[in-house]
Amino acid sequence: MTTATAQKAQSSDLVSQIIYAVRSMGLAPIPRNYQLFYEAYIGSNPDLTRDLAALGSRATQEELDELSHRHLGTGQAAVIEDAHSKLLVELDSLLKLLRQEQNSLESYSKLLGETAQRINSKSHFSTDLLSNAITLLSEATGTTIAHGEKTVGGVEQRSQEMDQVRRELDEYKRIANTDSLTRIANRRAFDERLAATYNNSTLLPVTALVLADIDNFKKINDSYGHPVGDKILATVASVIRANVRKDVFVARSGGEEFALIVEGNTADEVMIICERVRRALETRTFRNSRSGVDYGPVTISIGFAMGSQASDPGELYASADTALYYAKNGGRNRTVFFEERMRKDYVGKSWLIYKK
Ligand code: GH3
Ligand code: MG
Ligand code: MG
Repeated sequence: MTTATAQKAQSSDLVSQIIYAVRSMGLAPIPRNYQLFYEAYIGSNPDLTRDLAALGSRATQEELDELSHRHLGTGQAAVIEDAHSKLLVELDSLLKLLRQEQNSLESYSKLLGETAQRINSKSHFSTDLLSNAITLLSEATGTTIAHGEKTVGGVEQRSQEMDQVRRELDEYKRIANTDSLTRIANRRAFDERLAATYNNSTLLPVTALVLADIDNFKKINDSYGHPVGDKILATVASVIRANVRKDVFVARSGGEEFALIVEGNTADEVMIICERVRRALETRTFRNSRSGVDYGPVTISIGFAMGSQASDPGELYASADTALYYAKNGGRNRTVFFEERMRKDYVGKSWLIYKK
């Protein structure tokens, strides 16, 4: 090995060690850390070498900065010979520039490249040690940038995974709140939505709970079978949905009962909405498209009450249910708006319980 090659190997070996030490201790790959380790490794200041060793492998940035402050004060450059001191100067100017661009590793890499060029352009700087040091620092920075990009990539991937998880959760929530037969909101969702009704007292007087129950549905099941009953249930749901505004909450609240929460309308307006739905069903034919069998008319009875007519969701439900009872008793296929006087005939029993 020639002297020059040996020197080059030695110097690059030294810088490799410095870079390795900084990296393996999990320290920031910043010039002041490299500088500190460099000084310690070349032994320019035995106290520094001793103190740095004493910090062990878990040195914090604060401890290192404190060491720098203590051992690498002004005048330190004077004790480092020629090329070594030049390296310090270069690293120091790098540090200054870096302070301005603290967070930009890319610019750090660029600055290292520029520094290397500058050193090479000055013949007396072109020592193997300097150029190798800069090259290796550039490589170290490059690795750090690559690592940073990988981290950013990892974070992006992680956030994509999080989005996926969120989408899946939304989907699970949607499934949990949807009635599988009719594809509209289920009882669970209805209970939640009804409970929320009383959260907004200003909206309450213009919030209606509408209950609609299919008339004589048992007969349909008995005559044509349960699967036909299922199909009719699904059709009734879609007819209701199609005949109300998008913002009206429509749920299957029980077997053949549907609940609607209508916001922003007076009782008179809600009556019109209910009648529109009821008429839409009444006038619709329910026929098997393949066999041509006509299942006859399917009608609903409707009862509704306004939020201001009850003091809580349970009472509102009972009020609408009472009106529904009146609609059934009054001959079915009609809409009844709840009135306080109806309560005494009903005493809070649900329509289904009342019948049994
Ligand atoms: P009313 O006019 O008084 O409401 O009479 P109804 O026959 O509709 O009421 P009843 O409570 O006597 O019967 C309801 C029927 O609805 C009985 C039950 O089997 C049927 N039903 C409830 N859920 C489903 C379902 O998911 N699918 C089918 N096919 N039938 C159902
Ligand atoms: Mg019924
Ligand atoms: Mg019923």
